Amino acid sequence: MPTLDTSLRASRKGIDDLAVFGGRPAFEQVLHVGRPNIGDREKFSSRVNDILDRRWLTNDGPYVSKFEQRIIELTGVKHCIVTCNATIALEIAIRALGLTGEVILPSFTFIATAHALQWQEITPVFCDIDPQSHTIDPEAIERLITPRTSGILAVNLWGRHCDITALEALAERRGLKLLFDSAHAFGCSYQGRMIGGFGDAEVFSFHATKFLNSMEGGAIVTNDDELAQQTRLMRNFGFTSYDHVASLGINGKMSEVCAAMGLTNLESMDEFIAVNRRNYKQYEEELAGLDGVTLVTNDEAEKCNYQYVVLEIDMDQTIVSRDELMKVLYSEKVLARRYFYPGCHRMAPYKATLTDLSLPETETISERVLSLPTGTSLSPADISTVCEIIRLVVNNGREVSAKLRAVEV
Ligand SMILES: *Cc1c(COP(=O)(O)O)cnc(C)c1O
Repeated sequence: MPTLDTSLRASRKGIDDLAVFGGRPAFEQVLHVGRPNIGDREKFSSRVNDILDRRWLTNDGPYVSKFEQRIIELTGVKHCIVTCNATIALEIAIRALGLTGEVILPSFTFIATAHALQWQEITPVFCDIDPQSHTIDPEAIERLITPRTSGILAVNLWGRHCDITALEALAERRGLKLLFDSAHAFGCSYQGRMIGGFGDAEVFSFHATKFLNSMEGGAIVTNDDELAQQTRLMRNFGFTSYDHVASLGINGKMSEVCAAMGLTNLESMDEFIAVNRRNYKQYEEELAGLDGVTLVTNDEAEKCNYQYVVLEIDMDQTIVSRDELMKVLYSEKVLARRYFYPGCHRMAPYKATLTDLSLPETETISERVLSLPTGTSLSPADISTVCEIIRLVVNNGREVSAKLRAVEV
């Protein structure tokens, strides 16, 4: 248990007790965002033993097939091709879809979304987001389309959906391919249909920090038979049989142990969602009424994995900035994260050529958001402590900010 006893917690009466100003940290062990959700260890161990007994460690083994089958059942999508990670899944999907030239994507995403294009010498064209949903703004896309544009790579950020209806209509009307980076959105739905079956294809991530993990892993899901066949070939060097190579390919295979981890965690998925939702509701309740602090909401009418608890800090009201709040939390050993600051277009590999590019909504949001720890490794008492610190800081925003600046000098 990372939490210290309640007496210590209750003793944090004023801002002088904050660890950043010399007090004792609220936690003995650090609280991470994205600490892995781990299912039944016994089941996982017995599966690993079975894999070792068979000596079938990779190359489309029975656990990979079963994992793919379970994802198909869960999402209702016709085909699933699991991969070693989502970045390779994106690269394979991008290639199999025949994307070239320019592809429009949000800048407010994990850097892999952009890298997957640039790595193949396709120009990522960064688009602004809708400040409400934090996802790509379909109207802004329209203005970025050129004769070189071959597709749209939209991101279902935080497990919340883009305006998928508008994106599908736009892609259709302008003759563009539509790929979704749904790395965050496994187990989520849009208008009652599971994420996975939209656009030409979608990609999930099963990285350790994601809602459902296979340690490392990803998947391409699609209803397109030909695309599925193509991606399956590409995942395994283009081999169609022992010594026949039909296409260019890469090694994107998932190992059996990773698939066993994914399968095992899938069996605990409802539990993970219940815990995440409980955590989310607790944060919502304990941070309610705090001026300038809002929790990014989830559409309760849809299925949601509640994997991300994202705060938006309005500095005009809190006086204390997002970065200052983060600094205070870090001192307390709460490693809140400012995903996805400062936006891909401001990251070194891209900013040199994009000095004039301004994406106001992206820049504003990326300076306001803070992801808080959640998941199955956090107790309700931990969350109360985190909320207590946030309340203390925000309720004394002006003093905390001034004192932090004085300490820095
Ligand atoms: C994590 C993530 C990826 C990359 O996933 P990996 O499995 O780590 O390669 C891509 N896009 C987004 C939005 C992500 O959050």
